[in-house]
Order: sequence, then structure tokens, then C-alpha cells
Amino acid sequence: MQVQLLPEYEEQTARAAPAAEPRRLVILGATGSIGRSTADVIEGAPGGFSVEAVAGGRDGASLARMAIRLGARFAAVSDPAAYADLKAGLSGHAIEAAAGDEAVEAAALHESDLLVAAISGAAGVGPTHAALAAGRKVALANKECLVCAGDLFMRTAAEAGTSILPMDSEHNAIFQALGASSADDVEEMILTASGGPFRTWDAKAIAAATPEQALAHPNWSMGPKVTIDSATLMNKGLELIEAHHIFGIPAANLGVLVHPQSIVHGLVSFADGAVVAGLACPDMKVPIAHCLGYPARVPTSARRLDLAAIASLSFEKPDFDRFPALGVAMAALEQGGSMPTVLNAANEIAVEAFLARRIGFMDIARIVEACCAAQARESNGRAPQSVAEALAVDRVSRERARRMVE
Ligand code: MG
Repeated sequence: MQVQLLPEYEEQTARAAPAAEPRRLVILGATGSIGRSTADVIEGAPGGFSVEAVAGGRDGASLARMAIRLGARFAAVSDPAAYADLKAGLSGHAIEAAAGDEAVEAAALHESDLLVAAISGAAGVGPTHAALAAGRKVALANKECLVCAGDLFMRTAAEAGTSILPMDSEHNAIFQALGASSADDVEEMILTASGGPFRTWDAKAIAAATPEQALAHPNWSMGPKVTIDSATLMNKGLELIEAHHIFGIPAANLGVLVHPQSIVHGLVSFADGAVVAGLACPDMKVPIAHCLGYPARVPTSARRLDLAAIASLSFEKPDFDRFPALGVAMAALEQGGSMPTVLNAANEIAVEAFLARRIGFMDIARIVEACCAAQARESNGRAPQSVAEALAVDRVSRERARRMVE
């Protein structure tokens, strides 16, 4: 099997030269959960990084505080209505403020050594793609980029001679587990899932689950969208699609294991029977630091793993009956083309509707599956060839999902 490796993969074994200059960063999604953890890592490595630009969604006041905290030169908020708060928050500081989608793209295109792509949802696709096309190296925390337009993103990175570092914890663990091994020797890549808050619940209880119950993730503290995706296991389905693109590995060689302790994040099985796993306490600072410093290591305050205290790690197969979203996502990955784009868009709408108490928990997978079925009937299913095409498929699928919610 051919596994595409990240272009600078070979460098991993080389020792990084001591950084003479701070590494220049741009952070898209600076006020979200990943953005805040990224700020913690940066503050823990004084002199290691300089933040050139930050971008956020609609909270101008929070973005202003983050820009000041990180000493950014430029702050862009995508919602023009949030510009006044951003400007007011930056008063007295020499930080340029801007608003709108173009402003977020301008932030993405700021000169940098690494761009952290952590805008949640399809909103991150355009600016992240623009940065890649301009040859920026991207640490990718936004999985929607690869789910919506994975072929396009990988092609753009290759053409621009740049690379994508996986910041998602599972993919980052797999990237680290690959080590210096030959890609031809990989038999399987396995992503672990915590199983979410409903892992041990019966089907009837899951069907009656409330947003509060679904938002109570046992191990990870994350934004609401990804937390609901973890409860349905859709998150793992989206991550399989992400892994397929980032590592160039076929769906048949990708697997999922439910692992309630969230200590082992990803595993790679090799042709000789050896399995290498990536372990850490569940803290996003670990994969973030790996990407920010790569190939060097950046010290973090993440809790250290004490295996004797944890005592036992357990693993089980995912249950596709109680968690049908995983099967729906795997089918979309098998079908390929535009199907993952449709899946992602329909899922965003269904999750929003669930959080707004307009549909039940099990309706999320039902609506996504129905949108995928409609797409299979009505479209040629071609993979999006541009960001505009991906966003057009995304829009149609959202509209369809909205009608289904009603
Ligand atoms: Mg993950």
C-alpha cells in the first residue's frame, strides 16, 4: 500500500537547530477552544513564537483580548457587526483591526512560518485554502477542510510545495507513531474514540438525550459542535475522512476503536505485526505543541501520563446500532466524491437543530443519512474541484438539511 507522507516527514529524525528567530504564527479561530490552548502553549515557550495575526468569528471583545495577550499585529473578525467591539477592545494598542471574510483571508495570508487553522466548521475552508495556495505551512485543527474538499486541499498543498501538519489529537498521534518507518510497511491506522457520554447508555435512553447530557463529555473539554459530534460518533467518522486524505490511506485500511480513557489516541499497525501507539493525557496542548515546534519539542504544562495510577486501559468495538452516525460517515468516505461534503454540511445543520432543541439526538444521523441519499439520487457526485464548488455543494446540502429539520 502506498501511504503519502508529509513532505518534510524525513526531517522528523533530524534534530532541530536551535531557533534563532521566533517562529512566526497566524492563528485562525484564536478565541475558540483550540485557539485558547494554542495561546497557553505559546505563553509557555517565551521567545519561541511571535504571533503575526489572529482571526475570530463574532466575538470582537474576546478577539481583542487575545490579540493583546499574544502581542499580535493584526486582528480580523469575520462578522462585520463585531468590528466595533474589536476596535474598542484594541483602543490604546498598536494592533490593526479589520472585519469581514476578506479580513480573515488577509490574516491567513499574513507572512508566517506556520498557520494554525482552528476556525470551526465550513467557515474555515476558504481562508485555510488561500493560505495553503500561497505556500503557507498549515497546522490543521479544522477537520472540515479535509472533509469538505480533501482532494483539493492535498493537491493544493502539493502544488504549492507546502505541507499540512495534523493537529487533531488522533491524527497527530498517528503522525508521531509513524516515526521513521517506511510508509509501505503500514497495514492499518486506528483512531480511538472515547465513546462519548452515551457509551454505556441503551438505545432508548440515547434517543431521549438532551443537549446538556450530550455536551457533558467525559474526557475532553471542547467546543459545542465537536462535543455533540463526539456523542454521536460522527466526529470519528469525520476523522476517518480526514485521515484518509492526510495520510493518503484507503478507507479499508482505517479503523476505529472505542477507548473510554482517551489515553491512546491513535495506533499504526505495521507489516511485521508491530503496533505503535501515541499516548498522552487528553489535553489539546500536546498535539498543538507538537505542531508548533515540529520537528523540535515544545515543553507544555499538560498533565503527565501516570499509567500506574490509571492502572488499566480498555478497548471495544464501536456499536453501529446505537451510534449510526459513524456508519453513515464511513459510507460517505467509501463513496467519496462530493458525499463527504454533503455529510459535513448536513451534520452541521442537524447538530445546530439538536442544540436548539428542534430535533432529537437520533434525528442527527437520520437527517444526515437522508441528505446523503438525496445527493446520491440527484448529483453526479464529483469531488469539488475548487473552494467555490465545495461551498456550493455545502450550501445546497445545508438547505436540504434545514428543510428536513422543519
Ligand atoms: Mg480528534
